[in-house]
Amino acid sequence: MIKLNRRIAALKPSATMAAETRATELKAAGVDVISLAAGEPDFDTPERIKEAARRALAAGQTKYTPVAGTRELKEAIRLKLKRDNGLDYEIAEIMASAGGKQAEANIIAALFDEGDEVIIPTPAWVSFVAMVNLSGARATLVECPEGNGFTLDPERLRRAITPRTRGIILNSPSNPTGAVYSASQLGELAKILLEAGLWVLSDDVYEHIAYDGAAPHLFQIEPRLKAKGFALNSLSKAYAMTGWRIGFAAGPKEAIAAASRLQGQNSGNPNSITQIAAIEALTGPQDEILAMREEFRRRRQLVVERVRKIPGFSLPHVPGGAFYVFPNISALIGTHLDGRAVADGNAFADLILDAAQVAIVGGNDFGAPHHVRLSYATSIDNLNAAFDRIERVVAKLQR
Ligand code: PLP
Repeated sequence: MIKLNRRIAALKPSATMAAETRATELKAAGVDVISLAAGEPDFDTPERIKEAARRALAAGQTKYTPVAGTRELKEAIRLKLKRDNGLDYEIAEIMASAGGKQAEANIIAALFDEGDEVIIPTPAWVSFVAMVNLSGARATLVECPEGNGFTLDPERLRRAITPRTRGIILNSPSNPTGAVYSASQLGELAKILLEAGLWVLSDDVYEHIAYDGAAPHLFQIEPRLKAKGFALNSLSKAYAMTGWRIGFAAGPKEAIAAASRLQGQNSGNPNSITQIAAIEALTGPQDEILAMREEFRRRRQLVVERVRKIPGFSLPHVPGGAFYVFPNISALIGTHLDGRAVADGNAFADLILDAAQVAIVGGNDFGAPHHVRLSYATSIDNLNAAFDRIERVVAKLQR
């Protein structure tokens, strides 16, 4: 075995990407797999955005750009943050990256160090813990109980803060739970965060997929948090642009400059054509967002109904955002099928892939091993067929 860097050696593959890759491989081998694993909209990128990219390509805009994005792109991001979130940023406070993931990884790497603790309310997106570990800091997982709608209880937050705590990562609407924090919940958390003086990373990637009105922004609820806050976002979900790789971070100048230096050394600017497409996405007509959200809303209703009919699945709260459901499957733990035991969410997901040819993601790597994540970013027909298959397999499980 070769000797790897200690932190890289400990790095696990992303569970969501692994599930999606397995589904793709099986499909390529001719297996009729329905995937409810992917974290990406099934819609095509809107035509006006593709057209902007074609124009950029024809005009030869294929060279390096400034590392943190062109001035025009940063202007478009600035406009977006003002228009959608009521937040004022300067150009020097903005960095564009190859996806929200890269923006977040670079900010986390720039801010945190060995000996630091970073609070991550769980269930949480699989990459947050990995990014914090890579920085050398330690992730402090704070459980958000299902009974609390998977949101962070202020008392638990208070108890998790130690003299070593330097930051927190919040994500609303949440991947994987779909939980959306209300303005009053954010207000409660803001008081504690302000007092503790932590870096506050707000992952707003699913902001436009909120079903009960706009998801409130933490820095709008408590503007004083903005001085130590980062608005982290991506065009992947809002504009169906996952493959284009464009996201951004907005926050205090010095930290943005540090993260940009890191980006300059380890990758460079986000794709030049994508940057031009992103300007069109952010500044052009925004009606596609609404159309996609309404389609997701229709699917959410179907998925909630179908999940609740499966014996052993429990889904007490209708998720308020994103395009995932995160049912509890505790009642199925300890059952088995043909000698294969359902030991946890991951084992159940593996069984469902093999026996039902439906790809879902086990909850283990989200910090919730008695849950599974199902994405409804696929057609109603696919969803119905997937649930028919899952029901048939669950009916065969034995104690
Ligand atoms: N943050 C959350 C919560 C996500 O679910 C994702 C993608 O799944 C991202 C960030 C990163 O998105 P991207 O790198 O595609 O912009």
